[in-house]
Amino acid sequence: MRKKLLYLAIGLFINLQLLAMPFQPAADSLINDGPFIYFAGDKLKVMWIENNVKMGQYITAENFNEISKRFTPAVSYRDLRMTSALKPKNRQNYSQVDSIGVITDIHGEFDTYTKLLKSSGIIDETLNWKFGKGHLVVVGDIFDRGNMVNEVLWHLFGLEKQAEKAGGMVHVLLGNHEFMVLRRDLSYINPKYAETESISRIRYYDQYSENSVLGKWLRSKPVIITINDILFVHAGISIEMVRRNLTMEEINRKFSGNILGKRLKDVNCDEELLFLNEDKGPLWYRGYFLDTTFCESKIDSILAFYGKDHIVVGHTVQEGINSFFSNKILGADTGIMYGRSQEMLLYKNGSFYKVLRTGKRIKL
Ligand code: ZN
Repeated sequence: MRKKLLYLAIGLFINLQLLAMPFQPAADSLINDGPFIYFAGDKLKVMWIENNVKMGQYITAENFNEISKRFTPAVSYRDLRMTSALKPKNRQNYSQVDSIGVITDIHGEFDTYTKLLKSSGIIDETLNWKFGKGHLVVVGDIFDRGNMVNEVLWHLFGLEKQAEKAGGMVHVLLGNHEFMVLRRDLSYINPKYAETESISRIRYYDQYSENSVLGKWLRSKPVIITINDILFVHAGISIEMVRRNLTMEEINRKFSGNILGKRLKDVNCDEELLFLNEDKGPLWYRGYFLDTTFCESKIDSILAFYGKDHIVVGHTVQEGINSFFSNKILGADTGIMYGRSQEMLLYKNGSFYKVLRTGKRIKL
C-alpha cells in the first residue's frame, strides 16, 4: 500500500513537472495525441498524451486559454460544451450554393488534407477558413490507416464553426470506417493508436464515445446530403438500393438510429439494416467502378429517383477525380493515403473542376 502511494506521488510529481514544461516537439518515436475532451456532469475534462505520458485535467475558465492553444481553428468553450446537445439532423438538403469543395477518404493524412484544402482555396496558410459562403463536403473515411486522425477531426470541428460565421458550411459525412470504429471494429487503426490505448488506458473506440465531444459530434453526422442538384454519399447508391424505396431522410435516420455504434450481430438480424450495411448499401457499394454491367440507364434511374443530376462518391480509389456519363457520377477518392494523384473536386457556378496539388484547375 505504502509502495503504491509512493508510485502515485512520483507519478503526480512527474505529471506536474510536465505540465509546467513548455511544449517541445517530440522525437518520432514518442507518442503525442489528443486532446480528447469528455463531458463530466456540467464540466469538461481534457486528456492528452504528451511524449508518451498521459495528461489530464478539468477545463476551467482559468486554464481554457492555455488549452485552446492546441486548436486550429480556435474553438470556444461554448463550442465544446454545446456539442453535448447535438442530435442527428436527418434531412440535409441545401440549395443556391455557388462554390463547393469536396475531399474524401482522408484516412488520418493531415498534411495532405491541409495541402489540398489550401490549394483549392478553402483554407489559408494558417489553416483558417477562406472559402466565404462556399460549402466543404468531406465524403467520409477520416478514420483508420493514417496516424493523424484526431488532428483532422479537430480541424474540421473548428472549421465548421468558422465556415458558419462566414455564411458557408462544412459537411462531414460518415463513411464505412467511421461506422467500423464506432462499432468497436479496430481492424484498420494505425499502430500508433494501439500505443495511445495502452498509455491512456482508454480503448480507441472509447476515445470517441458518446460521452466525448468528438464522439457526440460524429454521431450527429449524416450519410447522405444534397447540395443544389448534387447528391453526396460515401460509396454510392446502387439500383438495388433504389428498389428499396427509401428516402434520403429515411436512410440517414436508419444509419444514425439503428446502425451507428451498434454491434454487427444486432444489425445483421434485421434484413433492411443488413442490406444498408453491406456491399450494395451506401457505405460499401463499388458498382459504379467495378461492375462491368453498370450502364447509363441505371444511373439515370438512380438520379431520377432522388430528383438529382449528379452523384459524388468516395470509397473506391481512382487515378485522379473521375467523371462518368458526363459528370452524372464523380469519383472523388484519389488515394490521399496512398500518395497517388491526390486531387480535390471543386464545383463553381454550375461547373465541376478537379484541382491538382499545385492548385491548377481542370474542367470536367
Ligand atoms: Zn470507404
